[in-house]
Amino acid sequence: MKVPHWEWNCRRLNEELGAAAPDRKAKPKRGEFAVAGLTWNHAAGPEGLLTAWQDLSDTVRLLADTPSPGASVLPVEIRIRKPSGRNRTYRAELAKSGITIDAETVFGAIRALYRIRNRLCLRRAAFLKAETLDSSGAMDPALTYPALKGVSTFSLDYPAAYSEGYLRGVARAGYTGFHLNIHYSVFCRSRLLPEFRNPEAEKNLADLNRIVQAAARFGLDVYLSFYLSPLPGSHPVFRRLPELRGSRMVGTADSYILCCSHPMVRQFYAEQMTDLFGAVPELGGILAISGCEGWLHCHTACAQTEDGRCECPRCRKLEPETAVAGMFNAMGAAVHAVSPEAKFVVWNYGIFAWSDIGAEKLISRLSDDCCVMANFDTGDAYELEGVQGVAFDYSLRCTGPSEPYRKQQKAVRRGKKTFLAKCESGAPLEYCSLPYVPALTRWMRKYEGIRQSAAGALYCWKFLGYNGGLAQELAGMSAAGETPAILNRLAARDFGEKNVPAVLRAWRAFDHAMDYHPFSGPSAGYFKGPFFIGPAQPLFLREPQKLPECFYCGSRNRTVVFTDLTFAEPFGVPAMLRALTKMLRFWRQGVTVLEGLRGKDAHERAALKAHLSLCRLFLGFLETARSMTEFYAVRDSFHLAPYTPETARKKLAKMKTIAQNELTNAERALTLLRSDPLLGFSAIYRPGITEAMLRYKIEHTKKLIEHELPFKYYSLLFSFNRHPSWTGKEF
Ligand SMILES: [Zn+2]
Repeated sequence: MKVPHWEWNCRRLNEELGAAAPDRKAKPKRGEFAVAGLTWNHAAGPEGLLTAWQDLSDTVRLLADTPSPGASVLPVEIRIRKPSGRNRTYRAELAKSGITIDAETVFGAIRALYRIRNRLCLRRAAFLKAETLDSSGAMDPALTYPALKGVSTFSLDYPAAYSEGYLRGVARAGYTGFHLNIHYSVFCRSRLLPEFRNPEAEKNLADLNRIVQAAARFGLDVYLSFYLSPLPGSHPVFRRLPELRGSRMVGTADSYILCCSHPMVRQFYAEQMTDLFGAVPELGGILAISGCEGWLHCHTACAQTEDGRCECPRCRKLEPETAVAGMFNAMGAAVHAVSPEAKFVVWNYGIFAWSDIGAEKLISRLSDDCCVMANFDTGDAYELEGVQGVAFDYSLRCTGPSEPYRKQQKAVRRGKKTFLAKCESGAPLEYCSLPYVPALTRWMRKYEGIRQSAAGALYCWKFLGYNGGLAQELAGMSAAGETPAILNRLAARDFGEKNVPAVLRAWRAFDHAMDYHPFSGPSAGYFKGPFFIGPAQPLFLREPQKLPECFYCGSRNRTVVFTDLTFAEPFGVPAMLRALTKMLRFWRQGVTVLEGLRGKDAHERAALKAHLSLCRLFLGFLETARSMTEFYAVRDSFHLAPYTPETARKKLAKMKTIAQNELTNAERALTLLRSDPLLGFSAIYRPGITEAMLRYKIEHTKKLIEHELPFKYYSLLFSFNRHPSWTGKEF
């Protein structure tokens, strides 16, 4: 499917992320000193260091375009202890007499340079203050996902997804790298199980090396979140070695996993690690999901026998955690034998599918070759208007740390393993098609919670990737070691110092609104419905026969719309409507605050306009969520309760009012989308709200008001043996 505004957004992502916006009227504050330029007497250095230095000195040059009185040229000294390695420890002394950076390796020095640059950009002026910045509170790794890398696990999308400009933007924000969600077989050239050899493996490994080198030029690491797939029973490997066949996947007749406890399978997986890290020695690490998908094993999602065990003839006799840990330990050891600094991360996503939700047993059986990664914001139950919901997946409603996260953290503490966190940054499952949820105070709490409890983090699965949104930038800054006070600086940078209190008030209102978000699998819809396509979600009086192409995703029988009340599960309509009404109230408060703000220069005015457009579009999403729920509830009441022509008339009048509001809502959303090509840009999984969808919604809603609702009234009068009427004034 063609992604609307693809070229415009590619240009933005490849050229503009993290650009400095000089404030020509800025004056140094107390404690600040003005910088006229930077000098660094270096003979030569690794490319990544020179690139970061160039970016910093160019930024100072741009910001100090009209030098302030008393501004001086600062000497910069960079001392690097180790000639190799990727340790990012550093200490940077900023003083009026100069800047000194002491770093463990060149990667530490690079991170320090980008952090200093970020400080200057936040100030929009070449002003610094005397202070020490160090890496003690920073996250390593701090990973995101490339915004222009597609969803496919079989393609690297090289070179399109890795432009210099884009990677620079990721480094500027404070991240240490990104992950790629890839099927392991893309690189497979196994001697042990030649059935899995990929004829393209050499080319793919060469491309991966190029990606790793391109990333290293900006001090970034590349991680692979590796996936396996089930195999048919007739797969050549099972024909040659039937004993490798492990569990059958649940709900399938002929789909099997390689047995995770068979010595040859473990050897094969270890071989893959050895071969991969041998071919791509600077690869940062591997993320392997242990739970409900990803690195599939005999317990992942297996068909069960009557005794509740898996069908695999070997694994059913073993303790699951020991079998799975044995497989991961072999892989981790193989990685470290070749690449001692690389991380082998066991990510317990969805582990409740086969083991305890706190993963305590599995963690206790993992060796120190494995790091452990836990979801920061999933697994807790919550109450919504007296009904129970569960933050089961990537939720901003849950600010964490969730109970299962704490349990895993505790279990890791008992050993020497490194503990990492997983969250989303900007586009959580609740709203994964809009640039970012503007509840920045809420994001800040989450990021700070992560910074305080983990050594590193994966800040983005594949929803939108790093797109330069404020919440995504904030994640990078937090990961670079900034405390929550950075939020005020971020607000000041884009919206002006004097607007900071009001902007924070608006963000807190959105934050408060999120307390009432009815988060559930059905309401998130996984890429459908009011929280995904917002005001483009039509109101259907009856099941549509056919929809325009833009509403289908992938297959012909999956659309992005709801035609029934599945959306309200498991809360039910009354709780859903109460919650959405509260959300809307708080959200409107935030929008009203932002509407009253004025920027002092072109940068602030543009930033305020863009932010307000985003917040207004969100308001439209919430309005549609409520409208659709209410409309379908009234519609379905025709089936669930008796009616007379008189009560039917009232119901139809209510539906008409909802439809009229939705017409206005959709028209507003269309104007917003047309005004900013960034707003609906969602490329990785599939587009969210689009202009084409809205045009259909508008036409459909007009027909609903002018034809479908009156016709329903006409025919029901008829069926009551009343004189039918259709003048348009009946209700
Ligand atoms: Zn098995």
